[in-house]
Order: sequence, then C-alpha cells, then structure tokens
Amino acid sequence: MKKLLLHTCCAPCSIAIIDEMKNQFQLTVFFYNPNIFPEDEYLKRKAEVIKICQEWGVSMIDMDYETDKWNQSVIGLETEPESGVRCLTCFQFRLTRTAEYAKQNNFGYFATSLTMGRNKKAEVINPIGLALAEKLGVIFYAEDWKKNGRQEKGRQLTVEKKIYRQSYCGCLFSIK
Ligand code: SF4
Repeated sequence: MKKLLLHTCCAPCSIAIIDEMKNQFQLTVFFYNPNIFPEDEYLKRKAEVIKICQEWGVSMIDMDYETDKWNQSVIGLETEPESGVRCLTCFQFRLTRTAEYAKQNNFGYFATSLTMGRNKKAEVINPIGLALAEKLGVIFYAEDWKKNGRQEKGRQLTVEKKIYRQSYCGCLFSIK
C-alpha cells in the first residue's frame, strides 16, 4: 500500500479525512502546528487527534512545538488580516516541514487537512503543496476537502465522538 503523510491541523478538520484515507493509503498523521497559542490550547487540540488515531489504529507523528521558529517566520505580519500574508506564511511553514519529513522518511505522498477549514482556500493552499512536491520529489495529494460531503461528515463525527472544537484559527493574532 502507498504511504501517505497527512499534515493534520486539528481533529474537527481532519476526522473525516483520516476516516477516508486510512482505507486507501498506509496513513500516518503528522501533527505539526507551532502556530497554535497558547500551549494549553495546543495540547488540547493535539490530544483530540491522538484520541482519534488511537481509536482507529492510525500511526501518528507528534512533531516539536517550535513556537520560536514560527514566531520568527511571521515577524512584521502580526496585524495582517486572516487569510492575508501571515496565513500564507503559516501554510508554507507547516507544509514545508511536512514535505521534508515525507521526503526524509520515504513517504510517496503528503497531504494537509488545511483545505477543510471554512476560511482556508484550496486555490491558495494546494499550489504551496504542489510547489514543495516539485522541489522535493514527493507527490502532493491536492484536494479541496470541503467538497463531496466531507465537511458535513466531519461535523457529524465531531459531535458523535464529542471532540473539542476550537473557536479561533490558532495563533495569538487570530484570537478575537
Ligand atoms: S490565522 Fe491561522 S492560518 Fe493564519 S497565521 Fe494564524 S494560525 Fe496561521
């Protein structure tokens, strides 16, 4: 079976994707989200992803909480609106680490749950993945996860499994 590394931003966005992809690929979930602030919130979101992976027997890589690196990457972009340049930088930051890990660990494919997010445009995120794929020689599984009933399925599974759903995107600047 082909190996796919799925960058997972949170459980509500990824539960329907994990459910679908675990039958099509040798799936590994990749939790790399140093953008999430504060740390308590980071741990809470991560715990929900761990819970799903354990229940379904899916492998998970718990990456470092490299907040200093992430904070460095968005210096000067603090006042950008959501979906602006700071978010582009944030997508690039997380996907770069995912693609590098995929390459270094012989995954044929990588993907991200980011396009499941309500305000996350596939036409912005997927070109970042495709450019990294070309640069590193790993296939990016480009998908708009919002489509084909997956958002609805994700909402349903989130309620059924009593999964915590956050009220803001992740970084300090997105807390309203
Ligand atoms: S709003 Fe969300 S996507 Fe944008 S920089 Fe903050 S955490 Fe990243």
